[in-house]
Amino acid sequence: KGVNLLSECIFCRIIRREIPAQIVYEDEQVVAFRDINPVAPTHILIIPREHIASVAEATPEHQALLGQLLLAAPRIAEKIGIERDNFRLVINTGADAGQTVFHIHVHLLAGRPLAWPPG
Ligand code: 5GP
Ligand code: ZN
Repeated sequence: KGVNLLSECIFCRIIRREIPAQIVYEDEQVVAFRDINPVAPTHILIIPREHIASVAEATPEHQALLGQLLLAAPRIAEKIGIERDNFRLVINTGADAGQTVFHIHVHLLAGRPLAWPPG
């Protein structure tokens, strides 16, 4: 489903530094970079180094990795100098939910009031 070839996945290419991105955080499992089309003053994408197409494709062996994506958020917030306790995390899953890149990513949004429900 979607782009599954690691060679063509745009986020795998960012991880491999084949295309430029403003990387703000990385560790052994996780990379985070600024969204190219930000919808908030802070808009970061947090991704696993391992290519997983979506949450729907994740398996129990990814349990710890999925947790690491969430736990990276307050650390990234601290690192880039925004509040570590005022942000929104979003994981669009499936085309109808707005997923356009099929490599799991957590959107970290902050820096403006965020309406709920999002619509
Ligand atoms: P989705 O719609 O799949 O939840 O989110 C994909 C996000 O990736 C979008 O917010 C889009 O702006 C961002 N994006 C797509 N291509 C690139 C790129 O080449 N570089 C960066 N930094 N962000 C990208
Ligand atoms: Zn990928």
